[in-house]
Amino acid sequence: MNTTSTSSPIHVIGGGLAGSEAAWQIASAGVPVVLHEMRGVRGTDAHKSDGLAELVCSNSFRSDDATSNAVGVIHAEMRMAGSLIMACADRHQVPAGGALAVDRDGFSDAVTKAIHDNPLITVVREEITGLPPKEWGLAIVATGPLTAPSLAQAIQAETGADALAFFDAIAPIVYRESIDMDICWYQSRYDKVGPGGTGKDYINCPMNEEQYNAFVDALIAGDTVGFKEWEGTPYFDGCLPIEVMAERGRETLRHGPMKPMGLTNAHNPTVKAYAVVQLRQDNALGTLYNMVGFQTKLKYGAQAEIFRMIPGLENAEFARLGGLHRNTYINSPTLLDSSLTLKSRPGLRFAGQITGCEGYVESASVGLLAGRFAAAERKGEAVSLPPATTALGSLLGHITGGHIVTDEEPGKRSFQPMNINFGLFPELQPGSIVKPEGVKRFRGKDKTIMKRQLIAKRALADCATWLGQAAPLAETT
Ligand SMILES: Cc1cc2nc3c(=O)[nH]c(=O)nc-3n(C[C@H](O)[C@H](O)[C@H](O)COP(=O)(O)OP(=O)(O)OC[C@H]3O[C@@H](n4cnc5c(N)ncnc54)[C@H](O)[C@@H]3O)c2cc1C
Repeated sequence: MNTTSTSSPIHVIGGGLAGSEAAWQIASAGVPVVLHEMRGVRGTDAHKSDGLAELVCSNSFRSDDATSNAVGVIHAEMRMAGSLIMACADRHQVPAGGALAVDRDGFSDAVTKAIHDNPLITVVREEITGLPPKEWGLAIVATGPLTAPSLAQAIQAETGADALAFFDAIAPIVYRESIDMDICWYQSRYDKVGPGGTGKDYINCPMNEEQYNAFVDALIAGDTVGFKEWEGTPYFDGCLPIEVMAERGRETLRHGPMKPMGLTNAHNPTVKAYAVVQLRQDNALGTLYNMVGFQTKLKYGAQAEIFRMIPGLENAEFARLGGLHRNTYINSPTLLDSSLTLKSRPGLRFAGQITGCEGYVESASVGLLAGRFAAAERKGEAVSLPPATTALGSLLGHITGGHIVTDEEPGKRSFQPMNINFGLFPELQPGSIVKPEGVKRFRGKDKTIMKRQLIAKRALADCATWLGQAAPLAETT
């Protein structure tokens, strides 16, 4: 017998960015929530306080430009959807040019107070050590990159050993349109078709010996980010940072991820490349390509500079740069349905960084969605997914299916954490980008800017339609 009713609470585990937003959204829909947060009883390696929605590192929510920046667009959509995180961020903003940066203590205090003052939200300070018991009915796990070990083990037991990662190994992702196809060519190694392939699944960037040597030198000299003491050094041979491979010997990369075997330069078939960088399609839309085997600890500035030395990537634009961090995240594209529910456990949703999104804003936005979906389910209403053309919808779509799952590297999971970027949005209708009247020179860069402006405009319009109307900002005391 189903004993739950609209007055039965939804349980949210984790009072970080995602869990706090999820709890707020559920309460805003008139449904009670119990928010379980372990800090106060047990800490994490990165959090310093007991405050909800603590920012563990930078105090920036990144660009607030909703006209031509994907992060700014998701900010605007969250504001429209009554986001508590955005309301508190706006109230505690500090000067940061075009970025939205916040006073971290003021921000966390405001979120904590709003949550505690909400009569529909009960905060319980406790560690949840296993999956939510079935009698809880609807629940959301939003325990973040530093999920406590016993819960992580329980998630692993439910989803399978390979389905939960404890470190990420992020290779840079490049916008397809910024790759120079007069230099690069499509080909799979040995023209292998493989499951679901065509024999032309990779974009290949050729290097001669001189270019290869200069590239290896730059990798070795590049500035890197160290691991935090508590992260350990998660190197294992299948997943070494590219610069560590370069340090192991000048030929290592040429016999590893940059091996030229089985590849023939379509632009110059008679000259064998000395080394080849391969990029593999990353999303079903075909707008994003990841640099295969290029996980790295190089600093972001060094990455952009060094990777643009690769022939064909001179003007590469990066949707995401590489990294290697302590992280906890599930293989969402295979485990979750389109409304973030674990397929094997109806009623149990995941939200925040544990779903494989990356960053404060993205984590909070996935919390916002999970909260709205769970509240709708509790009220017996249809779950309404945001359109794929919105920032919320494009990120959700990537996590729950848009990422292409590859199994051609045994033992490796292709799904890596993703931030919001324009490569996740569906393309515009053909013919949308038109040279403005009176403009003489309309170059590639101008077209990219216009394209992004049009995608942003479409996203905000479609988000407003999805929400019925532009919702007011969350009211907090
Ligand atoms: C060291 C570090 C630095 C980072 N720097 C940045 C940055 O500069 N910018 C950026 O955008 N992103 C950064 N991130 C990513 C950032 O953590 C996430 O984007 C964001 O905080 C994730 O939000 P979340 O709600 O998913 O997880 P969190 O904000 O971490 O919230 C999860 C909450 O769950 C609680 N919890 C965990 N396990 C349990 C349990 N079993 N029972 C009860 N409660 C539990 C935790 O105490 C925590 O409060 C960083 C991450 C780390 C680890």
